[in-house]
Amino acid sequence: MKFIDTHAHIYDLTLPLVVENAQRNDIQKIYMPNIEEETIERMMDVAGDYPCCLPMMGIHPCHIRKDFTKQLYIVEEWLDKGGFIAVGEIGIDLYHDTALLEAQQEAFSIQLSLAKRYHLPVSIHCRNAFKEVINLLEIEQDGSLKGVIHCFTGDLREAEKCIALDFSLGVGGIITIPKSGLAETISAIDLKHLVLETDSPYLAPSPFRGKRNEPSYLRYIAEALATIKEVSLTEVASITTQNAEAIFEAKR
Ligand SMILES: [Zn+2]
Repeated sequence: MKFIDTHAHIYDLTLPLVVENAQRNDIQKIYMPNIEEETIERMMDVAGDYPCCLPMMGIHPCHIRKDFTKQLYIVEEWLDKGGFIAVGEIGIDLYHDTALLEAQQEAFSIQLSLAKRYHLPVSIHCRNAFKEVINLLEIEQDGSLKGVIHCFTGDLREAEKCIALDFSLGVGGIITIPKSGLAETISAIDLKHLVLETDSPYLAPSPFRGKRNEPSYLRYIAEALATIKEVSLTEVASITTQNAEAIFEAKR
């Protein structure tokens, strides 16, 4: 079996321990979304040390400042050097703060354009901002945008909207929490639209709720998904890995 953790900030975890744990649990690749300017160096160090850890480039919506043009200039410089599997993580987050909505929207749309220019997929962060995110995706989708709505927690109608726009859904630890209702939504979605992720060090799945998350826990998410979809763990591994590689690693 071979799994891919499509969203893990492992540069904030204890290395090499978490990479070894991941590999012992068949998590063969870990995609690393960037957060802000300050995390780039750490992430690139991890990418250099561990070939199974593949970096993305972008600024997280919670770290977008008023003067985001400077931030995005740095992103562009790095993208220009090459070696990234995606633009991420990018998006809109209105959970913590709505004051910078306009800046977040503009930065998101510029980073979507960068993804198109560099022929890269995107890893999208969307929190309390479904309408705003879909709005921009509808504007920017010209048939060439591809990617994942990371840590998807919406309802069925929202899931179908993302899929109609050619985006896949990132299934994370929330799927292991019965009262989230996510299992019910995901049970109605074809496996071909799903990829797995931990969002380490956040959002640990049951039975590790509240603990520091790490890629090896992806197994618990995969097992929950297998139960929900009434398929074997091997099938979840093979289909979600194939999906992830088609989105992030196919030559475009
Ligand atoms: Zn993240």
